[in-house]
Amino acid sequence: MALIKKRIMAPGPTEVPPTVLAAAGQPILHHRTPQFRAIFAEVCDKAKAVFQTQQPVLTLSAGGTGGMEALVTNLSEPGETVIVIAGGVFGERWAKISEALGRTVVRVDVEWGKGVDPAQVAGALKANPAAVLVLGTLNETSTGVEHPIEAVAKVVAESKACFGVDAISGLGACKFLMDAWKVDAVVAGSQKGLMMPPGLALIALSEKAWAKANSIKSGRFYWNLPTAFKSLTAEKLPDTPYTPNVSLIMQLRESLNLIHAEGMEAIWQRHQLLAKATRAGVQALGLRLLAPEFPSCAVTAVWSPEGVEGTAVVKKLRDEWGISIVGGQGKLKTSIFRIGHLGYADRADVLMTLAALEVVLTELGVKVPRGEGVKAAQTVFLEAAKK
Ligand code: PMP
Repeated sequence: MALIKKRIMAPGPTEVPPTVLAAAGQPILHHRTPQFRAIFAEVCDKAKAVFQTQQPVLTLSAGGTGGMEALVTNLSEPGETVIVIAGGVFGERWAKISEALGRTVVRVDVEWGKGVDPAQVAGALKANPAAVLVLGTLNETSTGVEHPIEAVAKVVAESKACFGVDAISGLGACKFLMDAWKVDAVVAGSQKGLMMPPGLALIALSEKAWAKANSIKSGRFYWNLPTAFKSLTAEKLPDTPYTPNVSLIMQLRESLNLIHAEGMEAIWQRHQLLAKATRAGVQALGLRLLAPEFPSCAVTAVWSPEGVEGTAVVKKLRDEWGISIVGGQGKLKTSIFRIGHLGYADRADVLMTLAALEVVLTELGVKVPRGEGVKAAQTVFLEAAKK
């Protein structure tokens, strides 16, 4: 069988740098030792720059969805009104979680592929003055949309509601300033911009959000954020209430070291460049973008060409080229494919993916101007190198 290297160009899980992979092979440290707690202290401190916050960052042993549930549980009570910005699978997930937990959900529906208009959120807040929480998504992974979070945060900051943002696939990729933009609650996942395996959810809350979290009366146990906060701050070195995912914390230390060495500004610029080159590449092949007006810097969603299902493109790229991109989700399941370019991703990854995509589309019978996708991306990189 021919050797085919495996490469991930999906919007999470993403590739993990070799030094981060190796960090998982270290012996397990007991979590109640000064040795582990010193490492945890370093992680808690270094994570703040990724969120662009001065607030403590909590690390939960959970996938991203667990972090989302924790956020809803800690920032609203059953029966309270929660406004959900729903413009894709992950906006819908906020609604599903909130409904499952007995919150009263008011939806701000956004066409899939479009970004939310902050005026819609202002309208929903005006119509629902009792709302305690607005939930949005930084990078809607299912549509490749980057929502205008800064503008929405401005609107929500004028109300008594907290603004919670799912930054699971956006943090460490898209520009995001939690404190400066006045975002009240942020959840991130380890398997995206943080260049880690799945399994950790990171959460930070503003003072406004902590006040709400501290006032919650309804049941919560594992996802009790004030309990986690107490463990984090009660003594000189931070601690967790229960056994943390020790190996993932070791890996997080390594990934945060890489992130700090590159710098947040450089990371945002790299992602913007990769996204721009990917968009230029697929458009030069005659393909259309799903979200041209609100393009994400982490993932590019592309309408599959007429007569070809996105899933067929995904399968061929994966099976014959070893490159994992992904198809659509929900109602876009077969009509689009999505190329992730976040985390441990660079220019060569984009060129390689476009080159293989040209071959795959040609074999699927699509008339693509071969070489033009790669050329357009090269042009983006050449222009950027001049600056
Ligand atoms: N929100 C967004 C924006 C995501 O991209 C994902 C994962 N694709 C999730 C939430 C859910 O995260 P997890 O699968 O780790 O629960």
